[in-house]
Amino acid sequence: MFIDTHAHLFFENYKDDLDDVINRAKNKGVDYIIVPATDIKTAKEAIALAEKYEQIYATVGIHPHDTKEWNENLIAEIEALAKHPKVVGIGEIGLDYYYDFSPKEQQIKAFKSQLDLAVKLGLPAVIHNRDSDKDMLEIIQSYCGTGLKAQFHCYNGSLDDALEYMKMNHFISFTGNITFKKSDSLRSILKGIDLNNLMLETDSPFLTPVPFRGKRNEPAYVTYVAQQVADVHEISIEDVGRITSLNVFRFFGIGTPPKTSHTYLMGKSLYVNVTNRCNADCTFCRRKDDPYLRGYNLGMKKSDEPPAQVYINEIGDPKKYDEIVFCGYGEPTIRWDVVKQVAKYVKVNGGKTRINTNGHGNIINKRDITPEMKDLIDVVSISLNTYDPKHYAELMRVTEDHFDEMKLFAIKAKSFVKKVVMTVVSLDEVEIEKSRKVVEDEIGVEFRVREYF
Ligand code: SF4
Ligand SMILES: [Zn+2]
Ligand SMILES: [Zn+2]
Repeated sequence: MFIDTHAHLFFENYKDDLDDVINRAKNKGVDYIIVPATDIKTAKEAIALAEKYEQIYATVGIHPHDTKEWNENLIAEIEALAKHPKVVGIGEIGLDYYYDFSPKEQQIKAFKSQLDLAVKLGLPAVIHNRDSDKDMLEIIQSYCGTGLKAQFHCYNGSLDDALEYMKMNHFISFTGNITFKKSDSLRSILKGIDLNNLMLETDSPFLTPVPFRGKRNEPAYVTYVAQQVADVHEISIEDVGRITSLNVFRFFGIGTPPKTSHTYLMGKSLYVNVTNRCNADCTFCRRKDDPYLRGYNLGMKKSDEPPAQVYINEIGDPKKYDEIVFCGYGEPTIRWDVVKQVAKYVKVNGGKTRINTNGHGNIINKRDITPEMKDLIDVVSISLNTYDPKHYAELMRVTEDHFDEMKLFAIKAKSFVKKVVMTVVSLDEVEIEKSRKVVEDEIGVEFRVREYF
């Protein structure tokens, strides 16, 4: 259920009881442990541990502290070690201007060479950063578009930097220090981290969480880190385990992806994963390459799309939920008959319904479906994406007339449902205002800005 992505189990202080440490982790639901190296010697030790213990994986690389003697010949050595089947990343590598054990120039050189190696091998990079935020951000930004995937371990930078990293699809992880009494600012940064970009770690043997602070850290304590994440994000620890384990699968390729969810819980609403198909092909859509959300797998082949009864059985009593939302990574009106059958069940049994759509339902079904929403759908939420028809067509890779059809869909739907909402993802202020004008003045429905997450 949990994965400790950063534990230096080759340290001397595990020498006498490593079997116990591993067993305790297992008993606490820690499925996998990643042991990051700090130099060539510990890389070999990490690999030896990965060979001995099934649940251990390793990363190989030279820590900034150890780059004093850096020379480019080391790259070949790291590359050879990285070929081991249980090596899942290059790390830990990075910059540390706090301790400054190695000259800055040397640290930067070693860091960039190892990032190049990570890109070349298609392996993720495990990054250590302390008091070097400006250089770090600049370097990582210079790798934009190279395919670099990075984990910022033991994150201690600003929320702004974290948002930049997440925009580039990198990952952030926190250690036991988020449980410390004085870590309010760190917890507020954690609150701003998208759960889709979050992983857990202990950084054992350091940074032991409360209530064991002061003692040696170990992977079993990653559950305290998970609990803190759950408290800050106001979700269950099971949610944290499921979400972060899937993130580790996506990032490091460890573990197995979860089976497709036909329905999934988000807050107090139950979402119905209607289809993975769509008439559009938005440039920003993740449905084909990365159909995961909050630890759920929403990927589904057409042949695996379930009949209405499967959804109905999973819903049970719809009054248990705030809303039943027809959504998923796909366009639900593609299976309009199924949506109607399930919506009918929900309404007959006293529940509330919402459909999240791109507003192309009439084009897809080749007829006006809005009258059929009467008494079945309470709220229609339509993604406007942009106020500009040309941009709309480019973004969604559809013809320009889809923009007008979508607006017409919203206008027509108003007569048959309780509420129509049109949304845009938070763009800049000017775009938001222009979109608001189109939605409120031209179409006459509610306008909402969705967060990027
Ligand atoms: S409309 Fe939605 S599901 Fe379809 S491609 Fe665009 S973002 Fe993806
Ligand atoms: Zn570190
Ligand atoms: Zn470390």
